Amino acid sequence: MNTKITIAIDGFSSTGKSTIAKQLAKKLGYIYVDTGAMYRTVALFAMQNNLIGLDFINQDELIKQLINIKISFVFNADLGFAEVYLNDANVERKIRSLEVSNFVSKVATISKVREKLVSEQQEMGLNKGIVMDGRDIGTVVFPKAELKIFMTASADTRAKRRFDELIAKGDNVSYDEIYNNVVDRDQMDTTRKDSPLVKAEDAIEIDNSNLSREEQFELILKLVKEKI
Ligand code: C5P
Repeated sequence: MNTKITIAIDGFSSTGKSTIAKQLAKKLGYIYVDTGAMYRTVALFAMQNNLIGLDFINQDELIKQLINIKISFVFNADLGFAEVYLNDANVERKIRSLEVSNFVSKVATISKVREKLVSEQQEMGLNKGIVMDGRDIGTVVFPKAELKIFMTASADTRAKRRFDELIAKGDNVSYDEIYNNVVDRDQMDTTRKDSPLVKAEDAIEIDNSNLSREEQFELILKLVKEKI
């Protein structure tokens, strides 16, 4: 019988972590959790409540309001994946906008926000059998995960992927603004004080700039099979 393990997938923004993590969870019959979506949902809440703007962030009030933020993943059978809810509202589409992308890394620097989300993430993984992607999964959320992957790709490759995705959804964005957002988030995510994005010592690094989705999937699946 296979033993269930915990799989942590970390890396820079738009490295295709979520796509691979989702595919892997489906193949293994594991739970998949997109932790970026959770930080994005808190950023959306801050935007909707006027707690963040281009030149301000009301951290104290956001921290006070954290108790009113309930994030859930609800499986949509038609789409074949779980959508994110903020309290009773489906926010799946809203949290992927460039506007949210521009604010999320600022919100993710707040330790109280991280504390709340990390504890919810740890609870979701109590029974293992989980694939979680983010920035601090192998270092903070599940430091004992049996398999840790660290995904990288050049900023240009990542911006191009993100740009194609948003254009396909009908969003009106320019390549330059996407590229700047990718680079700005890299900078904020790697230099923040609390849980910066770093490769865990025991993580396996995969640069997927020149790998197809299938090649990445096969590579990771092979690593999983060595562990179960
Ligand atoms: O993965 P995604 O690009 O959706 O993440 C959005 C942002 O949320 C990241 O740029 C980062 O600032 C934050 N994040 C984080 N820790 C995680 C997941 C995401 O700080 N585990």
